[in-house]
Amino acid sequence: MNSNRNSAKKVIIIGGGVIGLGIGWQLAKMGCAVTIYERNRAGRAASWAAAGMLAPLSEVHFEEQELLQLGSMSLRLYPEWVEELEADSRMSVGYKTEGTLIVGIDRDDAQLLQHLYESQKLLDLRVEWMDGAAAREIEPLLSPKITAAISSEDDHQVDNRLMVKALITAYQKAGGTLFENIPVEKIELREGQAKGVWVKGALHDADVVVLAAGCWSNEIGGLPENVTPPIRPVKGQMLALKMESSVALQKVIRTPRAKYATDVYLVPKNNGRLVIGATSEEMGFDTQLTAGGLFELLRGAWEAVPGIYDLPILETWAGLRPGSRDNAPILGPTEVKNMIMATGHYRNGILLTPITAREISSLILTGKTSETIAPFQLSRFSQV
Ligand SMILES: Cc1cc2nc3c(=O)[nH]c(=O)nc-3n(C[C@H](O)[C@H](O)[C@H](O)COP(=O)(O)OP(=O)(O)OC[C@H]3O[C@@H](n4cnc5c(N)ncnc54)[C@H](O)[C@@H]3O)c2cc1C
Repeated sequence: MNSNRNSAKKVIIIGGGVIGLGIGWQLAKMGCAVTIYERNRAGRAASWAAAGMLAPLSEVHFEEQELLQLGSMSLRLYPEWVEELEADSRMSVGYKTEGTLIVGIDRDDAQLLQHLYESQKLLDLRVEWMDGAAAREIEPLLSPKITAAISSEDDHQVDNRLMVKALITAYQKAGGTLFENIPVEKIELREGQAKGVWVKGALHDADVVVLAAGCWSNEIGGLPENVTPPIRPVKGQMLALKMESSVALQKVIRTPRAKYATDVYLVPKNNGRLVIGATSEEMGFDTQLTAGGLFELLRGAWEAVPGIYDLPILETWAGLRPGSRDNAPILGPTEVKNMIMATGHYRNGILLTPITAREISSLILTGKTSETIAPFQLSRFSQV
C-alpha cells in the first residue's frame, strides 16, 4: 500500500517500543520516510516486560468508560492486525484466543467477581458465571478451593516478545529506518513548531516528531512545560515458569485477590513458558526484584493452580509501565505544531498498539484528530 503522495513526509519517532514501532510500520507502509531512534535495543523496555494479555475490562475500572471503549476497539482490530503483521514479517506473534478465567477462592473474592461480572454484563460482554466445579472442568489444574469463576471468551493474548520482533522486521521491510543505542537528546522547536531532533549533537530535520518514549517521555530535552507529558514509571515484577505436560494451562487465569495487595495472573505461552505477574509499585525507576514481590506472585499463582509448585523457574524480571496522571494514554497533537504524543499506555500498551498505530498514523497523514483519540489528548490535563 505504498503511496508516493506521502513519500515527502519525514517522520521521526522517539522510542522503539511497540507503540513507536507500530506507528512507524503503518506510516512506512503508507510511503512516509520514517526514522525511529531508540536509546537501547528496540522493544526491550516495557514492551518486552509485559504479559501480553489483551483484556480491556480486567485491566481498567468500570468507571473509565472512554478507556474501556478504546481497549475494546483495539481488541477488535487484533485479528486483522495479527494477520497483516504476520504476513509482512513472516513471523508468528503467538496470538491465542482460548480466553480467560477469572477465579475466586474465598467469599471476598466471590464478591469482587460478582461486581465485575455485573459490570461486564452491563457492557454486553461475552462472559459466563460458573461455580468452581464447572471452572475445573475447563481447566482441571485449578485448585479445588476455587468457588467461583468468570469465563471471558473475548480476553485474548499475544506473545509480546514475538510481536516486538515481528514489528521490527515488518517496519524495516516496509522501508523504515531504525537506529538502536542512539538516544534523542532534545527536540528542536522553532516558532512554535517541531522541526526535528538532536542526536549525538547533530540536528536531524523532520516534518513531524512523534514522542513514544514510554515512561521516559518527559525526560527529553527541549519540550516546554505545557507540552511535557505527566508520565511516571510504575514497576511490575514478573516471573516465568517452564510448563510441563502435567501442568499445561490453556487459558489465562486471573485471581483478583481481595486479601492480598497483588492481583495475580498466569499466562501460558505457546513455547511452554508460563508467565506470572505482576506487582504494581510506585518506586520511581527502581527495577530491583524483591523477595516480597516474587513471594506474593508465587503465593497467588500457587493458590489458584497448586501444580505450579514443582515447575522450574525460567526467568524473573521487572518492567516499568508508563502511567499518565489519570492512567489513560496521551494521544494526538499538542500545542507545539507537528509534535505528536503517543505515550502513557500504562497497563494496556500491548492491547492498545493496533488502535494507537491506526489513529496516530491517520492523524499524521490527514492532519485530523479522530473522535476515537480526541478524549486522550495532552490538553485534557490543562482543562481543570
Ligand atoms: C510487568 C508489566 C506487565 C504488563 N502487562 C501488559 C499486558 O498484559 N497487556 C498490555 O496490554 N500491556 C501490558 N503492560 C503494559 C505495556 O507493556 C506498555 O504499556 C507498553 O509496552 C508501552 O509501550 P511503549 O512503546 O510506549 O513503551 P516502551 O516499551 O517502554 O518503549 C519506550 C522506548 O523508548 C525508549 N526511549 C526512552 N527515551 C528515549 C530517548 N531519549 N531516545 C530514544 N529512545 C528512548 C526506551 O528505551 C524504550 O525502548 C505491562 C507492562 C509491564 C511493565
